[in-house]
Amino acid sequence: MKIHDTFYINGQWVTPNSSRVHEVYNPATNELCAVTPLANDTDCIKAIEAANRALPGWSSTSTRERSDFINAAADAMERRADDLADAITMTMGCPRQMCPGLQVSGAIAAFRSYAERAAMMDHIDQRNGIQVLKEPVGVCTLINPWNYPLSILVGKTAPALAAGCTMIAKPAEQTPLQDFIVAEVFDKIGLPAGVFNLVTGVGADLGPVLCGHDGVDMVSFTGSTRAGVQISESAAPTIKRVCLELGGKSPLIITEDADLDSAVRYGIQDVMMNTGQTCSALTRMLVPQSRYEEAISIARAVADENVVGDPLDPQTTMGPLCSESQKETVVGYINQGIQEGARLVMGGSQMPDGLTRGAYLPPTIFADVTNQMSIAREEIFGPVLCMIPFQDVDQAVQLANDSVYGLSSAVFAKDMQHALEIARRIRAGQCYVQGAHFTTEAPFGGYKQSGNGREWGDEGLLEFIELKAVLT
Ligand code: NAD
Repeated sequence: MKIHDTFYINGQWVTPNSSRVHEVYNPATNELCAVTPLANDTDCIKAIEAANRALPGWSSTSTRERSDFINAAADAMERRADDLADAITMTMGCPRQMCPGLQVSGAIAAFRSYAERAAMMDHIDQRNGIQVLKEPVGVCTLINPWNYPLSILVGKTAPALAAGCTMIAKPAEQTPLQDFIVAEVFDKIGLPAGVFNLVTGVGADLGPVLCGHDGVDMVSFTGSTRAGVQISESAAPTIKRVCLELGGKSPLIITEDADLDSAVRYGIQDVMMNTGQTCSALTRMLVPQSRYEEAISIARAVADENVVGDPLDPQTTMGPLCSESQKETVVGYINQGIQEGARLVMGGSQMPDGLTRGAYLPPTIFADVTNQMSIAREEIFGPVLCMIPFQDVDQAVQLANDSVYGLSSAVFAKDMQHALEIARRIRAGQCYVQGAHFTTEAPFGGYKQSGNGREWGDEGLLEFIELKAVLT
């Protein structure tokens, strides 16, 4: 069991002002696995003040120095890769044998990529007596969810460091441990005091101060649309920049002439990955009516390949949901889908065979789903796929876009040109064509209620930059 009783503020491990603690439970066993402090407003203000004190010095370092710090931190994270994977598996249930690939190594490599991108800060646009300079936005609050806790943390810290910003990070209550390891890494490499500060606690309690305080210039938030609204409200009176990466209900369009086996396999693997807890998961599979039953039987066979169980068993491909409360939410949606008249093809709300405890659910597929059903409209955030039939491509595009969300999407067609034409008609921040996969080189973010910012790639750095025009 991990016990943390300090926060990382101003380059030191400090005793919290608050005496309240949070218990973290391993979702595979329901056993207590970690205890962390619950910050109060005083703790947060200390962290915000430390970040403000550090800002003048850090923002005036050269991009070369910042790049050296990022590389040194990436090296140190690589040395702690096993600790990071253990922490993530223990707190959110990602199978340990998949955790390095899914949650850790790509995240560290992506963090490192901002060492090179730091030089973008030096580029000055010059035109007709106008110079456009890039400056750091300032002190940033970084609030994160539990599903990819390291990737999302480094997706914010790396560009913030590269830009010359200072920051306060707050992880999700369920998955605090990798943030402590990252703080230890920054401490070990001698990152100047106050550049990175860490507090842990309940988002709804700390949101008003972390997102509303005068000393914060920007909030970068990944999580639910519900919390994104509250954060925007807290940040509005002081006109902070707010970068929101929120939920999704992303469509996969499969055309009549597509290679159905490959397309359905791709869709099932995407939606079941990380036990369905991926914001960009392709949870609505849009299939031509003429090939609907064939697609359902392929989907069932591929989903059945999953081995659900103990995350420490090397055979396991699907661990538990992140928590009992997340499982309850997903069970609620499964029951609602059945009540709404969708056809349960496989899975459901019962414990998978052979398991007696833990937040487990089987891979679940619904057919005969209409886009009006709540299981097609609301983000479930569990291993649940909705298969929706369509008559022609125009209707498929209309169904794909008939959502309050617009985070991700995908298209499979026989012909690349046709797939690209469909991709251009979908209103979402990303579209994966013919089986393409996520990469941190591409900008990632949502249209509509999926958010308003971009992370990763060069664009991820732009979020942390203010532009200053100097006119001569
Ligand atoms: P959540 O919104 O409940 O919590 C996320 C974080 O926000 C936690 O740290 C929590 O403590 C904090 N929080 C909650 N309410 C807050 C408030 N009022 N003020 C300040 N902070 C607050 O979400 P979750 O259940 O942890 O994560 C799942 C959600 O995250 C899903 O909707 C998923 O789609 C989304 N997500 C989006 C992306 C993306 O890049 N778009 C990536 C991963 C997850």
